[in-house]
Amino acid sequence: MTMIEQNLQTVRQRIASACLAAGRDPREVALLAVSKTFDAQAVHAAYRAGQIAFGENYIQEAVQKITQMRALIALDGEGLQWHCIGPIQSNKTRLVAEHFDWVHTVDRLKTAQRLSEQRPATLGPLQVCIQVNVDGGVTKSGVSPPDALALARAVAALPGLRLRGLMSIPEPEPDFEVACAVFARVRALFDALNADGLALDTLSMGMSADLEAAIRAGSTLVRVGTAIFGGRPQPLAQPE
Ligand SMILES: *Cc1c(COP(=O)(O)O)cnc(C)c1O
Repeated sequence: MTMIEQNLQTVRQRIASACLAAGRDPREVALLAVSKTFDAQAVHAAYRAGQIAFGENYIQEAVQKITQMRALIALDGEGLQWHCIGPIQSNKTRLVAEHFDWVHTVDRLKTAQRLSEQRPATLGPLQVCIQVNVDGGVTKSGVSPPDALALARAVAALPGLRLRGLMSIPEPEPDFEVACAVFARVRALFDALNADGLALDTLSMGMSADLEAAIRAGSTLVRVGTAIFGGRPQPLAQPE
């Protein structure tokens, strides 16, 4: 068994245990393998271990990898699913619209509009989450919770996109209960948007260090990098 295969098993077990502890069905929580800075071979090893969904932050690095993987894997119906989880500058929206299946980091209407316009019709709508800055970190991306409803309504109306939910990256928090409480605020916002009539089904929160707390609070998709692929080298130099 490869290291990546072993790590994937461990992460899947962590997800299952967290679901059990929270009284949830493990099938409610998807695993996104965050492969940023790792090469196509690492992605292929994870794919051979049954992993289908991959998350990438650096757009040009990702597009290269997506293209390599397409060549590597016989197109047997079930292709890979690629999720953009990094910040998106305006000059990268076209690449994202043309190569990704999901985007988790929409926090401005302008970006959403460009993605919608640039999404090739043949690919079907791009699946989108709105990134929420739940703990007010000033340097971080994400819409502030009070602005989330208006943005969500506007994004939901765009023809090239399908709004699926919310994403958040809270500051690292070592105390489990405190971490749960922060994630629960994102969950509460998610519930409020659904009560308002938006049919959201995806709550993208939780990473290697805090997936248990996120699952307790209702996460439906955890984004896990280090615990699967190991420690990351310096990001490949790529101005975004
Ligand atoms: C890198 C990254 C992850 C994965 O983080 P790990 O701590 O390595 O699991 C998840 N989400 C986002 C947005 C990231 O940039």
